[in-house]
Amino acid sequence: MKRLPIACLAALAASCAGAAKAPRSPWAASNPDWVEPFTPFRVYEEIYFVGTRGLASYLIATPEGHFLIDGGLPENAPLIAKNIETLGFDVRDVRILLNSHAHFDHSGGLAALKEISGATMVASQGDRWALESGLVPGAEDDPAMAAPPVKVDRVISDGENLTLGGATLTARLTPGHTKGCTSWTMTAGDSEILFFCSATVAANRLAGPPQYEGIVADYRATFERTKPSRPDILLANHPLFFDMEERRARQVAGDANAFRDRESFPALMARLEAAFEKALAEHTAKAIEK
Ligand SMILES: [Zn+2]
Repeated sequence: MKRLPIACLAALAASCAGAAKAPRSPWAASNPDWVEPFTPFRVYEEIYFVGTRGLASYLIATPEGHFLIDGGLPENAPLIAKNIETLGFDVRDVRILLNSHAHFDHSGGLAALKEISGATMVASQGDRWALESGLVPGAEDDPAMAAPPVKVDRVISDGENLTLGGATLTARLTPGHTKGCTSWTMTAGDSEILFFCSATVAANRLAGPPQYEGIVADYRATFERTKPSRPDILLANHPLFFDMEERRARQVAGDANAFRDRESFPALMARLEAAFEKALAEHTAKAIEK
């Protein structure tokens, strides 16, 4: 893929030929922290936070190029690129682009980031259509849910590894929140890291009709399969899922283990499973009423 000139990287201006336009999302007004800058930082070993205050993106930096997980909202791409540069890396060295799931608040910036980096977009089969169409299955006619389409260059399956410069990420499919919701695990230093997709219900319909066929079974399978999982470090696409700001403050104050917490993931999943069962009962009751 043709790469943009370096002058386009900082601004990602519409005047740069070929640069993807990034209209302001309708969601930014109601979620101002989603577009609020946050100082990028090293989370642990080769893992860096390069997102905004309310939407995480992660750079996994290696001597042979970098992984980048998630692109935030469409208008966040320039900020993510700037954060990468602030940390001393070159966004054009991003070789592999990943996405936790195909919702506009995590996939919106991918098309622009792919264009400026020339990276290979890797995603699950379950989210491929949504990424390539920019639409959400079951909400295809809702323009507020749309994202700039991004071509998937390689489809990854459950358990498959991606290796770059000595870092290996393993795909763990955790469907439900979206059909192809993909979590990633890796070992960094002496720690097991989990980049968790999500298992909130959010705008999903669980009944009458469901967002997609099989969604309830997918959520339940995800809750079951993740029960034994106790990663040393939980990272997720919404910083609130792992108290990022509080942990970052502790890290700045000198606590080298601020992000290590093996109780964090099981506690999150217990909350999400309870919320799912409650929403399922509500959606089912409503569907019967109709
Ligand atoms: Zn989502």
